[in-house]
Amino acid sequence: MRRRFVAGNWKMHGSLASNQRLLKDVAVGAAKVSGVDMAVFVPFPYLSQAQTLLAGSSVSLGAQNVCEFHQGAYTGEVSAQMLQDFACHYVLVGHSERRAFFGESDAQIAGKFCVAVSCGLQPIICVGETLAQRESGQTESIVSAQLDAIIQRAGIAAFESATIAYEPVWAIGTGKTASPAQAQRVHEAIRAQLASFDSDLSERVKILYGGSVKPENSAELFSMPDIDGGLIGGASLVADDFLAICLEASR
Ligand code: PEP
Repeated sequence: MRRRFVAGNWKMHGSLASNQRLLKDVAVGAAKVSGVDMAVFVPFPYLSQAQTLLAGSSVSLGAQNVCEFHQGAYTGEVSAQMLQDFACHYVLVGHSERRAFFGESDAQIAGKFCVAVSCGLQPIICVGETLAQRESGQTESIVSAQLDAIIQRAGIAAFESATIAYEPVWAIGTGKTASPAQAQRVHEAIRAQLASFDSDLSERVKILYGGSVKPENSAELFSMPDIDGGLIGGASLVADDFLAICLEASR
């Protein structure tokens, strides 16, 4: 039985003042949620604040990106070891906004995944198709190729300490959600892909759904057999909404 996982991706939102309230509310509310792993992925400058305000709570901390190199002359980058200084447990890798707006390639994303795993950070590798790709019937081949780039570079065993997030690009921040059946089909295909390498491991890997998850649609999505929780963007900026989604995951 896989334990559910709900992760909040704050994206480039927040301020010291607004985070103070949000982090406190999430930390306090998390005490009422049992049996679910919870994490928030805050912008780099707020890692220290989040580390302090989440200390002693059941909410883990994650970063939204990591450099594919360990250290050196890489101006503007942040290494996996630096993230560990702030007690980061997780890191997002290959979010579609990084792929689309910052040109991250499958190879670069695989490098980030490997660095994270080698430093003891758990990557959440994001995969998903655009609307055009879905409409031309390429959903499964696109998702499979994105995942394969990681498996070929990191090896299947690396997924023992990784999570996968299926995030259809057309559903992120748009208010459009994949139907539970649409999402389940892709999650099932992802698990089958993992199983073709290692069937026991495929049953242990968590596959989250992301794309306009809200309190109102989370129960139905989480009822699908291969959906193990959610990667939540917009709704994670409102403590009550994020906590309501976490509570749905606990049922
Ligand atoms: C995301 O940023 O990963 C995401 C799923 O965003 P939203 O929930 O706002 O669609």
